[in-house]
Amino acid sequence: MTRSLYDLDAGQLEALVAEAGEPPYRARQLAHWLDGRRQPDPRRMSDLPGSLRARLADRFAGAGLTLERHQAGDGGWTHKLLFRLPGGDAVESVLMLYPVGGGDREGDGPRARATVCISTQAGCAMGCTFCATGQFGFTRQLSAGEVVEQVARVSTMLPELRPGPDAPDHLTNVVFMGMGEPFANPAATWGAAWRLHRGFGLSARAITISTVGLVPGIRRAATEPLPVNLAVSIHAADDGLRDRLVPVNRSWPIAELLAAVRDYVTATRRRVSFEYALMAGVNDGVEQADRLGRLLAPLRVPGSGGHATHVNLIPYNPTPGIGFASPSKGAVRRFRDAVAATGVPVSVRANRGVGIDAACGQLRTSAGRPGRAPHGATEVRQ
Ligand code: SAH
Ligand code: SF4
Repeated sequence: MTRSLYDLDAGQLEALVAEAGEPPYRARQLAHWLDGRRQPDPRRMSDLPGSLRARLADRFAGAGLTLERHQAGDGGWTHKLLFRLPGGDAVESVLMLYPVGGGDREGDGPRARATVCISTQAGCAMGCTFCATGQFGFTRQLSAGEVVEQVARVSTMLPELRPGPDAPDHLTNVVFMGMGEPFANPAATWGAAWRLHRGFGLSARAITISTVGLVPGIRRAATEPLPVNLAVSIHAADDGLRDRLVPVNRSWPIAELLAAVRDYVTATRRRVSFEYALMAGVNDGVEQADRLGRLLAPLRVPGSGGHATHVNLIPYNPTPGIGFASPSKGAVRRFRDAVAATGVPVSVRANRGVGIDAACGQLRTSAGRPGRAPHGATEVRQ
């Protein structure tokens, strides 16, 4: 079964069009709608003949994503979208808008940004103890097309989602940081990344893949000829604590993870960011910060000698039913300063969408409990 029109390649589109008795140029038009205009819905492909549109809509009636729920937060600058997949599961995508000069990551520059955070799996098998998705368990892999279609759907919705004229009018960045572990679904992850680059025209540097630390995945990323950004979710600087937070650490402990990152940097000369979700009283002490800094400080970009890593601190976004809490502002500041004291570049990620449960997996969890109105959220459509 085709799950998404984005799972069809150029040859398959040609065959489809030929089957319908249409001339080959219709396949190029169809591809232009899908990639150039990011329109996954055949009924809206207005310059295709009505008969072809109807045929495609009928043939792929069970395919594609359906918007099931939309919540806006941060005054319309953050949007959470829950998409129903063919077969019944659901995944979430989050759109984060930033005005000119409003980015929260190093090197963001002055231009306005629209970043979409997408999912690669329904659920996740990695079982991180603080993560709503991990606690939900794994349901199924997404196809490459289902990953790409999230970007297409958010792109076409962007004009109506923008809170005002100072918000960007097109997507500028894609991060694989939604539900699931991208490197546990490498075919879909890389297939989608290539399509976003070649088809949607996003530069590789506008794409970031975040991994919990699957070493074979990092090694593959080092050889993949698409120079996307790599983010590694580390969350602890010693194996004892990381084993508890991130169970996969038992397979690839910190030393092995850092060896893979070092080889990645040597092969690609690209910097790697490390994500660290700060949880009160668990991993937010200055001794952990110092330890983290000392682990990462020796990693340098060959040739330039500059630091090869950057730490992104994410104050934990509490999830009902999961026993971890946000750190105090003072703890975040002290942690950041202790990392900075080791020389490793560090920044604190602005906490987006707290009122709409916008952290990984939280929307689906709350959608599973009818009647619960998330604090501070605006329910836009259901
Ligand atoms: N599986 C990949 C990508 C998805 S998770 C990974 O783990 O890297 C995206 C990021 O959100 C990870 O860094 C994850 O640890 C973090 N995260 C998950 N739940 C969170 C929460 N409640 N608050 C803050 N960050 C969270
Ligand atoms: Fe999976 Fe990432 Fe959540 Fe861990 S943090 S359970 S790897 S989605």
